Amino acid sequence: MNRRIEALVPAAAASGIVAAVVRPEILALTKYAVAKAPGLVKLDAMESPFPLPEAVRAKVAAAVAAVPVNRYPDGAADGVKAALRGAFDLPSAAGLILGNGSDELIQLITMALARPGAVMIAPEPSFEMYRMNAIFSGMRYVGVSLRADFALDVDAMEAAVAQARPALVYLAYPNNPTGNLFDESAMERILRVAPGLVVVDEAYHAFADASFLPRLAEFPNLLVLRTVSKIGMAGLRLGYAVAAPEWIAEFEKVRQPYNLNALTQAVAPVLLAEQGMLATWAAQLKAERARLEAALARLPGVAVFPTRTNFVLARVPDAPRWFEALRAAGILVKNRHGVHPLLLHCLRITVGSPAENDALLAALAVL
Ligand code: PMP
Repeated sequence: MNRRIEALVPAAAASGIVAAVVRPEILALTKYAVAKAPGLVKLDAMESPFPLPEAVRAKVAAAVAAVPVNRYPDGAADGVKAALRGAFDLPSAAGLILGNGSDELIQLITMALARPGAVMIAPEPSFEMYRMNAIFSGMRYVGVSLRADFALDVDAMEAAVAQARPALVYLAYPNNPTGNLFDESAMERILRVAPGLVVVDEAYHAFADASFLPRLAEFPNLLVLRTVSKIGMAGLRLGYAVAAPEWIAEFEKVRQPYNLNALTQAVAPVLLAEQGMLATWAAQLKAERARLEAALARLPGVAVFPTRTNFVLARVPDAPRWFEALRAAGILVKNRHGVHPLLLHCLRITVGSPAENDALLAALAVL
C-alpha cells in the first residue's frame, strides 16, 4: 500500500472495508478446519501412517538435491504425467491434468463450469469442498441427501438433475465421510441423465477395488478425479484428473502455469516407481481396516458402517465426549457429529499403523 493510502486507511478500519467489498457469501463462510496435532496419534485426515523406507528416502534425497530450484518447474509436468500413466494404467486415449492436490482440480473444474446461473449437484453428506467451491465460484449448489444407510437416493438425484440441469455433479466413489461405495448401477443412472460433467472422485481408489476409470470411453461426460494423498504422499500435494481430451484442454486454460512445484515433480516419479511398496502399504491398511472394523463393532453401543476407504465411520453413544476422551488419551480422530443429520454421533477414524490402531483400541476400551 502506498503511503498516501496508508494514511487514509488506518489498520483498525480494515474490517469496515472488508465487509463492504468482500463477497457476502465469502464473509458468511467458515474456513475449512485443519486440526493441529502436535504429539497426537493422527487418525483424522486419511494420511498413510507409513514412513518411507531408508533406501527410498535416499532416492528421494538424491532427486531433490538435483532440482534446479532457481528455475521454474516444467509447466506441463511431463515426468509426473508419465509416472502416473505408468503406475495406474491410465487409458492412453484419455487426457490427463495435474493439480496441487485434487483440491486444486476441484477448484479449477468448478471455476471453468461456473457460468452465471450454473448449478452443481452433490449428495450429502459428502466431501465438503464441493459445496465450498460452488460458493467460491458463484455456482448454485444443490445438495441431495443420501439415504439413511448412506446409499445414493437415485430417484431424488435424478429428480434434482432433471429440475436443475446441473453443469457439474460430484460423486465421491467411495464417499467421504461415510466410507461406502455407491452402487455402480446408481452411478451409471446419474451419468446417463446428467446433462453436464460428472466428476467421479476416486480419492480412496487404492482401498476400494472399484473404479470408473475403465469406463471412461463409455461416458463422454465422465471425469475421474484421483489423488496420491491417501497412498502415502499427502505432503507432495498431487492430484490428477482423467477425462476426454476435450474436457482437459479447457481445464488446462484455467490451471496456473506452474501449479506443480519442482520438488513435487522430482519426488513423485521416484515414489510412483515403488509399486511394491505402494501395494504393500495398501494391502496392510486393508488388513488393518478389517481388524479395526471388527474390534470397533464389538464395543457396546457402537455401530460401524461398511467402508471401502482407509477410514472407518462409527456411530458411538456420545461422539463429542468420545472425541474429547480420545484426544485426552493422545489420539486425534474426526468428529462428524453435528455436520449433517445423518452423521449423528459419528466419528471418522483413519486406519493407522498396527501400533496406532492398538493405541486407539486401548483408549476406547477404557472409555
Ligand atoms: N476428494 C475427497 C473425496 C477427499 O476425501 C479428499 C481429501 N480429504 C480430497 C478429494 C482432496 O485430496 P487432496 O487435495 O489431498 O488430493
